[in-house]
Amino acid sequence: MPLLFRKVRDLRNHLRSLRCDRGLSVGFVPTMGYLHEGHKALIRRSRVQNDVTVVSIYVNPTQFGPSEDYDRYPRDLERDMAVCEELGVDVVFAPPDEEIYPIGFQTEVYVKGISDILEGRFRPGHFKGVATVVLKLLNIVQPDRAYFGEKDYQQLKVIQTMVRDLLLPVEIVPVETVREPDGLACSSRNVYLSEEERESALSLYRSFLLAEDLIKGGERRAEVIKRKMEEFILSHPHVRKIDYVEITDPDLKPKDKVEKGDRILLAVWVGNTRLIDNWKVSV
Ligand code: AMP
Repeated sequence: MPLLFRKVRDLRNHLRSLRCDRGLSVGFVPTMGYLHEGHKALIRRSRVQNDVTVVSIYVNPTQFGPSEDYDRYPRDLERDMAVCEELGVDVVFAPPDEEIYPIGFQTEVYVKGISDILEGRFRPGHFKGVATVVLKLLNIVQPDRAYFGEKDYQQLKVIQTMVRDLLLPVEIVPVETVREPDGLACSSRNVYLSEEERESALSLYRSFLLAEDLIKGGERRAEVIKRKMEEFILSHPHVRKIDYVEITDPDLKPKDKVEKGDRILLAVWVGNTRLIDNWKVSV
């Protein structure tokens, strides 16, 4: 079993001795738990590249809006510990809220600009919560490398920007999105979907294939591609609403004419579940 820590001080003492006394390298995988194949890919990458792998499991309240799913977000530490054991994780950090947000805390991290577009427009304050908790976790763990999924592409960009701007001594390693065999991106929130909703949720992935087909056929106008993707997604039952479909360059600047390497990002409500996904244009 991995060692389980609840307290910042205990974790710090343990990692200090691994790092300083034994000279071991540390890889860090921050998660909100309910681990799936996407998380596993990050953990496996860390295991290959580092002597010690630390996984944090913390459902961070400050990145959820007041009407979002913080309360019903799936949690199962026992199961997550078993997954971590199977993958050879050395240390799990699962702190209570008071360890991360001591009474009277005042400081937040706000990565301007990039936090306010796309997800940020629909989830005000979300990336402030993300950047703040990730900086805290990086300060606690002080890893050599930290692993983030491209599934949350904008989050990855926010973290990369924060690390660059604040001169943090850590390498951020992006990991490609892991999908179910039928194309649905792995997500802890997929458990919210009924069987029928899950079927409709496949339209997100399939809309990326549609976009690729259009581009292959010579269509380069972002507006046209986005409209056709939206029509396709909305033609499925249980799809309630599209928050956005956007096409950007790799740094999230909107594009009019689509090129290889651009990103297509979307957020869609299927029933009461909000799903996000993104795609790197390959043609
Ligand atoms: P979460 O537990 O949802 O906060 O995710 C923890 C980390 O796992 C983040 O860096 C996510 O981007 C990453 N992640 C989540 N789902 C996937 C996926 N399907 N493929 C790759 N990485 C993922």
